[in-house]
Amino acid sequence: MRMYDIIRKKRDREVLSDEEIAFFIKGYTEGAIPDYQASALCMAILLNGMSDHETAVLTDCMARSGDMLDLSRYGDKTVDKHSTGGVGDKTSLVVGPIAAALGATVAKMSGRALGHTGGTLDKLESIPGYVTGLTEDEFFKVVDKSGMAIIGQTGNLTPADKKLYALRDVTATVDSIPLIVSSIMSKKLAAGSKNIVLDVKCGSGAFMKTIEDAEKLAQNMVEIGRRCGRNMTALITDMDKPLGKAVGNALEVKEAIEVLRGNEKGDLYEVCAALASEMIALVKKIPAEKAEKQVVRAIEDGSAYKKMIEWVAAQGGDPRYIEDPSLFPVPAFSKPVYSPKSGYISRMDAEKVGTTEVLLGAGRLTKSDGIDHTAGLYIEKKTGDRVKKGELLCTLYTGDEKRLADAEKCYLSGISFSSAAPAPVPLIYKIIR
Ligand code: URA
Repeated sequence: MRMYDIIRKKRDREVLSDEEIAFFIKGYTEGAIPDYQASALCMAILLNGMSDHETAVLTDCMARSGDMLDLSRYGDKTVDKHSTGGVGDKTSLVVGPIAAALGATVAKMSGRALGHTGGTLDKLESIPGYVTGLTEDEFFKVVDKSGMAIIGQTGNLTPADKKLYALRDVTATVDSIPLIVSSIMSKKLAAGSKNIVLDVKCGSGAFMKTIEDAEKLAQNMVEIGRRCGRNMTALITDMDKPLGKAVGNALEVKEAIEVLRGNEKGDLYEVCAALASEMIALVKKIPAEKAEKQVVRAIEDGSAYKKMIEWVAAQGGDPRYIEDPSLFPVPAFSKPVYSPKSGYISRMDAEKVGTTEVLLGAGRLTKSDGIDHTAGLYIEKKTGDRVKKGELLCTLYTGDEKRLADAEKCYLSGISFSSAAPAPVPLIYKIIR
């Protein structure tokens, strides 16, 4: 079998056999297939798609490309949440502690920034001392101690996705349903949780721009998960504008802390409450409405916030930063961005907001790039808000002053204005239970 023929077949819209998919995943994982051939195949898949069967086989091969975690010691209480990726999406930092405070076990693996979207690991690494690279034993110790842990793909878990994820990030091959399904579900299956809640993002800042595509992606993942014996729920949520106000690693950790402290009640809170309610509904086998009451209580009585402190400390992070977020390093440079017009913000191109974040240094332009944990932006006005010319739209933050001009240009190019208020869009489009 030759990789060349597999690429050509997909380029010519043919269906790949199970053996060809297995050959690709094995060869790429072991290093026998180079990045340039893997990226050519990813691009062919992105352009020409895959059948449901090809997608299922790809997912299975990727899940089995390394070890599979056995979480059976925690019974049926394990729950995972995974987002398809968005801008300002820091929900894992909020829903993990809520679910753990309510008795669920959150033994979670997360990813890094991908394309214009942020990554939970990059956010967590802005907390001094927090270790994302634990061994399996260390991971279990943290989970035993605090009921939750969030780490990177440990040891040899889904090495195929680890390599493909980094490759897709820099080769414009992220926004493909089969590649996203196989990436997310291979990790979720290998990571072992019995209950899985998916947050499928939809809109200008998501990889799925339309509700039809988002629904197809959600259905595909739910079916694969159920076939593998997992309890699955998927929410389709809005990503036509960034979630919350902060975009950028440390800035987002600080915003997540405020939600857990009960000080933030906007869109971020609402999406987190919905996701956490579905997580608890699956774990406790209760209706989501009943679960929601417990979720609200866990925030109001401070137990979810205390859980965050406990978890961060158990994973090596300095809990003083959670107790006093003003300790996070202040970015060296900042720039206010003012509205060029009066009117309503009719649309925010959330992908441009994500690209602004990358331009400021919070994301990667190449596989080997480091990131600036202080970089990002804080949004003051969002879609639907009325603004006056010269009013503050957002503030940009970076450690590298030269980045500010391009970032400002990019941010403003994504904002549209109108004289009438735009029609509101739902925050949660659909829940697939
Ligand atoms: N999140 C993932 O883990 N993988 C993708 O491909 C997209 C989002």
